[in-house]
Amino acid sequence: MTQANNSPIPCPECSRIKYFEGLCYWCKNKKKRETYQSMSTTAIENTITTIINNISEIENYNDEFDDFISLLAYHDINTEHIAKAAFEKHIFYPPTLYRNASKEVINGLINILLNPDCTHANHILCCLATNGNDDVKNVFMALENKPLAWRKKLHVDPSVYAELGGWSFDNKGSKTLLVHQDCFPLHKEDRKDDAVIVGKTRADTCPICSCKLIDILTIDGSDSRLSFLGIKGKIKLPICPNCASLSEKTIIRYTLNGDSTMEIMDSFENENYVSETDLNKIASNNLTLSRTKEPLYYACGNDDVCTIGGQADWVQDFQYEKCPDCNRKMKLLAALSWDQFYEDLEGTLYIEICTDCSIAAAFHQQT
Ligand SMILES: [Zn+2]
Ligand SMILES: [Zn+2]
Ligand SMILES: [Zn+2]
Repeated sequence: MTQANNSPIPCPECSRIKYFEGLCYWCKNKKKRETYQSMSTTAIENTITTIINNISEIENYNDEFDDFISLLAYHDINTEHIAKAAFEKHIFYPPTLYRNASKEVINGLINILLNPDCTHANHILCCLATNGNDDVKNVFMALENKPLAWRKKLHVDPSVYAELGGWSFDNKGSKTLLVHQDCFPLHKEDRKDDAVIVGKTRADTCPICSCKLIDILTIDGSDSRLSFLGIKGKIKLPICPNCASLSEKTIIRYTLNGDSTMEIMDSFENENYVSETDLNKIASNNLTLSRTKEPLYYACGNDDVCTIGGQADWVQDFQYEKCPDCNRKMKLLAALSWDQFYEDLEGTLYIEICTDCSIAAAFHQQT
């Protein structure tokens, strides 16, 4: 029965070649997601009860952790009761436990944080940021202006922690969301739907490596599913598929009738590793905008996915770029897991946007 480790075995679901028996990594994750997605309301409630009863286990990344992350990602569960149980046991990870925490629990967290000798400041700031109610914003502002003793042990200010929760605030206390509250995944589907096109090859070439450019995203803002983006036209966002992972970021200026220019910032090298065959592979992806929206944390489940809107599953630290024109933080537009349309590349391409200035920024993260 056992085959030698070096003989290729196609995945029984997708025929992808690998060197072990059973489903490939991607099909296994997809199956896991589909299993969670098909859970009944009763099964979801029972799982929440189990999480609450075993809340101390969640920090050990075991079944309770998996269940919690998946229910949040695929069923958008309300975490109020879980947050209460976590708070009673002083469990502060993962911070999403506190997303829907009651005012009482949030005030409890704030009280711990207001102790200058607080030893959990890092975790508590993350939990509070994930909740992000007005009390949290006010405390973050106050602590930014008048830091307590624990600040010396942290690397960044409360305003940076706020970004973990997907929001920021200015010095007058006005709050801006850095993530769209709607989330639409892009699934591999053979269906005619041009609301979002991924990876279309262009005629122009990269000034650094001469690779042909691609429109990483073509977005039809007039599609009703995408009205939350506030893009009043059809935009094209060009990048160099080679330099995308070999530079700090790409700044793209677009117009609402499909014209755009791009500039690669801080390139690491100028060799082109992307062939014409690779470009065809990228362009022949059949990623299609989902018909229906998914929960805010959909991308944070256990499956590599491509999403428009919603929270990102950051490969490294969360990263919100400043718009080069208005200097305000840009909003997350999309997170594209490369292996969903270009298997040779690991990591995720994040794309952020300032619709006021018609500018987008694309940057790559990998482990
Ligand atoms: Zn497979
Ligand atoms: Zn290039
Ligand atoms: Zn701007």
